[in-house]
Amino acid sequence: TGTLHIVATPIGNRDDISARAIATLRQVAVIAAEDTRHTRPLLQHLGIDTPLVALHDHNERTAVDGLVERMRHGDDVALVSDAGTPLISDPGFRLVRAARQASLKVSPVPGASAVIAALSVAGLPSDRFIFEGFLPAKGGARKARLAELAGESRTLIFYESSHRILECLEDMREVFGVDREAVMARELTKLFETVLGAPLGELVGLVAADPNQEKGEFVVMVAGREAGEDERIAEGLRVFGILKEELP
Ligand code: SAM
Repeated sequence: TGTLHIVATPIGNRDDISARAIATLRQVAVIAAEDTRHTRPLLQHLGIDTPLVALHDHNERTAVDGLVERMRHGDDVALVSDAGTPLISDPGFRLVRAARQASLKVSPVPGASAVIAALSVAGLPSDRFIFEGFLPAKGGARKARLAELAGESRTLIFYESSHRILECLEDMREVFGVDREAVMARELTKLFETVLGAPLGELVGLVAADPNQEKGEFVVMVAGREAGEDERIAEGLRVFGILKEELP
């Protein structure tokens, strides 16, 4: 049987593709791509002429069966998305699940992902973090989601697009408060790469004052809530209470 290779591609700078990704894309029988029009220029640039098929959110259910069938008959398949690591706020979940359910080998060819690239330069605590992907597009639902996260102590990471970045930061300022530290990473690995860190009150001002700061692709990171001394003591007592019941 064939193998499904999950292949990361660059998030901006084309040199960020790995040697193994290039070899894999050249070797497989077919490449399943989120948008073939987007992947074709990358393959051309790499001198690769492996056939492409589309696998996006709207055809994933039907495309999956054909690809699993091909792998059952021995074809190796690579999955790529438009940028970064497939399945990370990108299509592919159904294909990977179906391949694993069919006992086919699924193997990663790791590389760029905006969430990890951003966290690695943010200077926020990185030992524990949660990735929230895209927030809901509508204001009410977005604020509700943020409110659910207001007490979270781990670093929060979000993806955002250019037309909502300012609204998103404004909602964060409202829900998390002006003093909460945040970092906005824009256009990573590209010409206008910018990493801005400030308390949310200031960060909103910086972005609102410069229209260029609303252009491109963004990762927004917010420091987790720092529990005060009293809260830490109360939490410690609560946990102690739970443990005590477990003790002999
Ligand atoms: N699969 C990708 C990954 O591994 O990062 C993410 C795909 S998601 C559809 C696209 C979002 O990722 C953008 O809206 C932005 O939030 C983030 N992103 C992608 N490339 C970026 C970059 N170069 N700089 C900052 N954020 C980026």
